[in-house]
Amino acid sequence: MAIRIDGKALAAKVKARTAAEAAKLPRQAGLAVILVGENPASKVYVAGKEKDCAECGIRSFPHKLPAETTQEELLALIEKLNNDPDVDGILCQLPLPEHLDEEAVIHAIRPDKDVDCFHPFNVGRMVIGRPVFLPCTPAGVMEMLREYDIPVRGKRCVVLGRSNIVGKPMGMLLTQADGTVTICHSRTEDLASITRQADILVSAIGKTRFVTADMVKEGAVVIDVAMNRDENGKLCGDVDFAAVEPRASYITPVPGGVGPMTRAMLMENILTAAKNHLGL
Ligand code: NAP
Repeated sequence: MAIRIDGKALAAKVKARTAAEAAKLPRQAGLAVILVGENPASKVYVAGKEKDCAECGIRSFPHKLPAETTQEELLALIEKLNNDPDVDGILCQLPLPEHLDEEAVIHAIRPDKDVDCFHPFNVGRMVIGRPVFLPCTPAGVMEMLREYDIPVRGKRCVVLGRSNIVGKPMGMLLTQADGTVTICHSRTEDLASITRQADILVSAIGKTRFVTADMVKEGAVVIDVAMNRDENGKLCGDVDFAAVEPRASYITPVPGGVGPMTRAMLMENILTAAKNHLGL
């Protein structure tokens, strides 16, 4: 039976570490959070981030804008926050309402305040192995592997999903940790034959019970990034947890796995931004 990786406990540890460091700064670190519209999931995520900031002694500056906010208004706010010395990080909660251009918004956030690590400058820095920030979700997965002494060097790693936010950077960080990485996607042929080779399998697809026991090698480490709702509206991942758990050596639950780690790594990025702004 697999060891369950406790993302909640580890996130608490990361946040405590961040809070201790943040308390030593000559001024409080600050995060501006922009929420446009009334997306219920986004509201929950934003509330969570504000709570995390409070726990870590980080100031949060909420900007809740109506759904009909124009592109010009949003960009003007970002420009103002770019120039605000109390703001170390700027986070614009995605997805944005249809009429707004997400890419333009990502590009408008100054790279030194891009604590989500979405700006092409920061993505490029990560790819060449000289990151300023690391993208929160993949960084949270790497932190879990480190904490549980799970070796990556020389291991076969398979990542399911190739999004810019999760799959691609996940593959990059595993490669930089000396894993041998295959990234799979919706056009991958004979997916199960690839996943069965994985020593470390990371799933970030967004389909409930997609990863079944026959897709997993005996003793594999299984990391479930997804946050889906099952037929009863219950939060769940991509992995058929009950069936896969007996085959795996380590496994992350959903909820209580990667989700809390993503939030904790955001706090670390804000601390990094503040230290950089303070020249520390
Ligand atoms: P996304 O942008 O929708 O990407 C999904 C990826 O899965 C795509 O690359 C897609 O391939 C691939 N895919 C879809 N169907 C597939 C199939 N049948 N076989 C193989 N690959 C398939 O999603 P995302 O933003 O990366 O998020 C993925 C999941 O992680 C979601 O459940 C999301 O809620 C969750 N998430 C969790 C956290 C967290 O903190 N835990 C953070 C971010 C996201 P194509 O590229 O070919 O379309």
